[in-house]
Amino acid sequence: MDYRIDDSFVLPAGYGKAVRVRAGQRLRLTNPFGTQAIDFWAFLDRDTYEFISTDNFRSFHSTIFATTDTALVSTRRRPLVTIVEDTSSGKHDTLLCACNADIYRQLGVEGYHRSCADNMHEALGELSIKMPFTPSPVNLFMCVAVRADGSLDRLLPASKPGSYVVLQAEDDVVMAFSCCPQDVTTINGADRTPRDCGIEILTPVAGAA
Ligand SMILES: [Zn+2]
Repeated sequence: MDYRIDDSFVLPAGYGKAVRVRAGQRLRLTNPFGTQAIDFWAFLDRDTYEFISTDNFRSFHSTIFATTDTALVSTRRRPLVTIVEDTSSGKHDTLLCACNADIYRQLGVEGYHRSCADNMHEALGELSIKMPFTPSPVNLFMCVAVRADGSLDRLLPASKPGSYVVLQAEDDVVMAFSCCPQDVTTINGADRTPRDCGIEILTPVAGAA
């Protein structure tokens, strides 16, 4: 199957974006520096109360890592999105919540700080979609390992510059992304600097083999 690029845009550092992706379309998310964590959600377009569920994902696949072998299942345990290509480190976090206002306050930030949770709601709002809560995201390009004693190890990002993932919609979905604005901890690299990423929407070319 061949694909054409229907649209492309920058996902600005620290900000979010939501986009409708039809069943069979793909979205390529590129990480130019390899250091940027991207929080990712997908909602069924006709019923946004069905969305990618990280707890169902872990139960369904018996793993904590989202990879090309593990479809991202919904709150009804149906595959909504599949990672069909991945040139990153290949293990995407499904354990940690989106960063939010309370986290930044607990980190000592005074005043408003952008967050992945706010970015998700802001991005969905641009499509006139309201969610009364923040589902747990799949944290693309983010490396969180579990030690033998059960504690978590937030590792530095391990992807090469220019790494990308290709996400295939298995139904008509709204994909939401947050280019994580975390600049207090090192989850976006040792220099604590969020960086732009790129998005391309890919549509199958009719009649292609
Ligand atoms: Zn974040």
